[in-house]
Amino acid sequence: FARPWTFVRGMSRVDDLPPVAGTVEVAFAGRSNVGKSSLINALTGQGGLARTSNTPGRTQELNLFKPERDSGVFLVDMPGYGYAEAPKEKVDVWNRLIRDYLRGRPNLRRVFVLIDGRHGLKKNDEEVLDLLDKAAVSYQVVLTKADKLKPGGIAKLAAETLERIRKRPAAHPEVLTTSSEKGAGIDELRAAIAALIG
Ligand code: GDP
Repeated sequence: FARPWTFVRGMSRVDDLPPVAGTVEVAFAGRSNVGKSSLINALTGQGGLARTSNTPGRTQELNLFKPERDSGVFLVDMPGYGYAEAPKEKVDVWNRLIRDYLRGRPNLRRVFVLIDGRHGLKKNDEEVLDLLDKAAVSYQVVLTKADKLKPGGIAKLAAETLERIRKRPAAHPEVLTTSSEKGAGIDELRAAIAALIG
């Protein structure tokens, strides 16, 4: 996780992404407002890198970040989903982009699926896990905003979440718990990513 990281750009079509050959990617998915931007900022140690937003569902693009001194590694911030007021066309655009992305990136090592520690797995999170299972892409669940719960509460949710995803066909790495606000679990997530892209 050598700094500095830079924002490459937002891409609304999979065809616009960098070539697959010689590169590795890990991606982050989650409902709007799950804390995805905050987590990317915490991971990279760069507060302003990913734009945290108070207008959830605004961005419909894949946002790519790379270390300044390494041209072969990308963090991919996937557009947030589950925005209550999203019109059907937007949901369709999201689905198409994500489906194309998951099917078209053999260099994609893992998708970290962020789940709000206050809410747990929702129906649209399960739908994203369905897409990942169908595309046979590796994924790992990361609970966010752990500081909003008591320690016992977040551990219980992690165990319940693992129990629910255990029925799925993919391999099941441990459920990570994080707080971007307090820094909890960030080193563990960094280590998981480093093991994938190293
Ligand atoms: P995104 O839409 O998924 O990118 O979410 P953001 O990173 O913009 O965060 C959404 C809201 O959750 C913001 O108000 C953040 O301040 C808040 N938030 C994000 N991470 C944490 C966290 O670890 N703890 C707490 N308490 N709040 C958080």
